[in-house]
Amino acid sequence: MLVLLKRGTSETAVTDISARLRMFGLSVHRTDHGGQVRIGAVGEGGGVDWDQVRGWPGVESAEKIPVSFKLVSRAFQPHETVISVGRCAIGSRQLAIMAGPCSVEGEEQTFTIAAAVARAGATVMRGGAYKPRTSPYSFQGLGEEGLKLLRRAADANGLAVVSEVMDTQQVALVARYADILQIGARNMQNFSLLKEVGHVDKPVMLKRGQSATIEEWLMSAEHIVSQGNSQVILCERGIRTFETYTRNTLDLNAIPVVKELSHLPVIVDPSHGVGIRNKVAAMARAAVAAGADGLIVEVHHDPDHALSDGAQSLYPEQFEQLVGQIRTIAEVLGRRI
Ligand code: PEP
Ligand code: MN
Repeated sequence: MLVLLKRGTSETAVTDISARLRMFGLSVHRTDHGGQVRIGAVGEGGGVDWDQVRGWPGVESAEKIPVSFKLVSRAFQPHETVISVGRCAIGSRQLAIMAGPCSVEGEEQTFTIAAAVARAGATVMRGGAYKPRTSPYSFQGLGEEGLKLLRRAADANGLAVVSEVMDTQQVALVARYADILQIGARNMQNFSLLKEVGHVDKPVMLKRGQSATIEEWLMSAEHIVSQGNSQVILCERGIRTFETYTRNTLDLNAIPVVKELSHLPVIVDPSHGVGIRNKVAAMARAAVAAGADGLIVEVHHDPDHALSDGAQSLYPEQFEQLVGQIRTIAEVLGRRI
């Protein structure tokens, strides 16, 4: 339910109303919009007499949130969620530019790429230390050693860090080194993992599952937010279709659709979305034109020897050129990098 409080309701009354709702077994979430306190009361709440709640002092109205993803919906919070990470305000007029290798492979590779993407205009460095690989015989990532390298290379270049966490047992460790926890496409419906990152005080980047509908994706975000972590960034990374020329089909429809349904920032991963180096820039430009709040792009200085996803990684010069183009597109949209 969405409980709107009367303007000017005291903080004591807000606390009191929240406590009374909790006594019904509801979980209470607050957002302030246009000088008004909005309470999202979610959970079973079978025994609540909502007509009675409507009569409580300070309560203006109580209405059902008309969608299944409650807290991440615009019905609950009409204004954009803006997530501050390092020099980046994700979800604001500023576009978030995240870039780096698919995997952290070693010191020289990580530092070379960090310097290159920082120079080109990225504010967040990506790099996997725990890699979900289709084959058990492929490179699985450097683990904590990789996280340490990523942190050092990012710090040396004034970048924030985003890195994937694959397992509930890795959450505390990854959170120690990364500024943003990435939930990979294959884990979008790993509900134990979603619950775990819902308890962490760090932003979470939730990638869309390979065959997930927009509603399922938003429901996964709801799992995280309902646990108390409202800092969720959605990432469209392509879905699996009948098409075989491209690795995935980047669903740009999802951007305006999700922006209407949800207040969460939406960024796009054109690298996994198309999976072919010389098609990545076109899809990145299209994503920004379609209203994405940022990009996450794989960049490698020696992609022929990359331990994962070399074929879709941009050379640093290509990335730099892309950022220049994004800057121009951003201007048309009243945004900036
Ligand atoms: C990645 O970002 O390298 C990755 C494995 O992405 P996804 O989970 O979208 O496949
Ligand atoms: Mn990758």
